[in-house]
Amino acid sequence: MSAMRMKILVLPGDGIGPEVAAQAVRVLRVIGRRFGHVIDCAEAPIGGAAIRLTGSPLPEGTKRLAQDADATLLGAVGCPEFDAYPPARRPERGLLELRSLMGVYANLRPVRAVPSLLNASPLKPDIVSGTDLIVVRELTAGLYYGKPHGIFGRGAETRAVDTMTYTRGEIERVARVAFDLALARRQHVTSVDKANVLENSQLWRHVVTEVAREYPAVTLTHLYVDNCAMQLIIRPTQFDVLLTENLFGDILSDEAAVLAGSIGMLPSASLGDVRPSGVRTGLYEPVHGSAPDIAGRNVANPLGAIGSVAAMFDFGFGLKDEAIAIEQAVEGVIARGIATADIAGDSRPATTTEVGDAVCAALEASHARVVDRPAARAVV
Ligand code: NAD
Repeated sequence: MSAMRMKILVLPGDGIGPEVAAQAVRVLRVIGRRFGHVIDCAEAPIGGAAIRLTGSPLPEGTKRLAQDADATLLGAVGCPEFDAYPPARRPERGLLELRSLMGVYANLRPVRAVPSLLNASPLKPDIVSGTDLIVVRELTAGLYYGKPHGIFGRGAETRAVDTMTYTRGEIERVARVAFDLALARRQHVTSVDKANVLENSQLWRHVVTEVAREYPAVTLTHLYVDNCAMQLIIRPTQFDVLLTENLFGDILSDEAAVLAGSIGMLPSASLGDVRPSGVRTGLYEPVHGSAPDIAGRNVANPLGAIGSVAAMFDFGFGLKDEAIAIEQAVEGVIARGIATADIAGDSRPATTTEVGDAVCAALEASHARVVDRPAARAVV
């Protein structure tokens, strides 16, 4: 693939968001230099930071930039000072609106057990070892978006309503993302539902089974969500691609985070349709939130944010070499014991910036090796 020009929008957000996003942007720039891409970065406010500036968690200017960008990189949103605000005016609303505006309907969360971090997981190393799965969560429909929703009535008659609704089309398009991914992996999709109770899940199972017929090379297994929650900690290595609706995926992907040792490690990609340019619409962000308990101290793990840059090159631009270079640099840094407090164990914890320094240095060093020995290109 030849060098590209990319317009990237960076939304640092709240809490540890700006700290981890800064390290992700450094990695982005190193990759740009190393692979010859021209990367134009713009920055805009979202979440609590945007409310303070404009009164809105997703200002018009941010919306315009997100629609114009080839890819959007987010830190995190959410701050305690807005906890008492009604849901429609809270920082998190900015992110929900952004996902909906961008039409990013498939949320991908890869979870891999890194050998040198097996002891960081609360599960036994022999259970976690070999885990390599990806959760594909439907992101723009279901219970989080269905109408009506709200709290109605008064006193003893007060009633809360959330509506779960899915159309055939909404299920088909996210299922295709999961099956396409499985083709390039170990050809196994596990679809999660609660078809023994929910009408939504019956439609989900029916449509996913239909889509599976287009992919004869891929094996499809159906699992109830309660069993899936159990299987994830009993035998996580059985999973390749885990396909879920919005709410189930939200919960299961946080559970899966435990397998990787820390939620700070996990990247995510939220994907929409492929544009005429060939680039897939995408929002890339670490799985974790704004972690107000550790914000402003330069101690947050930036690897989820840095991994999200790898996801951007892989899923958004189809540039696998760039993604692999980042993943290998990250694994090398962890193997050398350079790690923030959440995964450092008994070693001296590194700061957020030190981890960013180490990943950038590893990327520059591997580039130097490639330039010295062009034949080594394939193994970088
Ligand atoms: P959280 O992910 O922010 O934090 C959970 C725990 O994990 C905390 O103990 C935190 O210190 C730790 N943690 C998280 N990221 C870490 C990192 N990179 N390095 C080291 N430790 C890390 O979840 P929460 O506490 O439930 O939510 C805090 C705020 O974030 C809330 O306002 C919530 O709504 C918001 N939130 C935002 C997103 C998002 O932006 N996508 C996702 C989840 C939560």
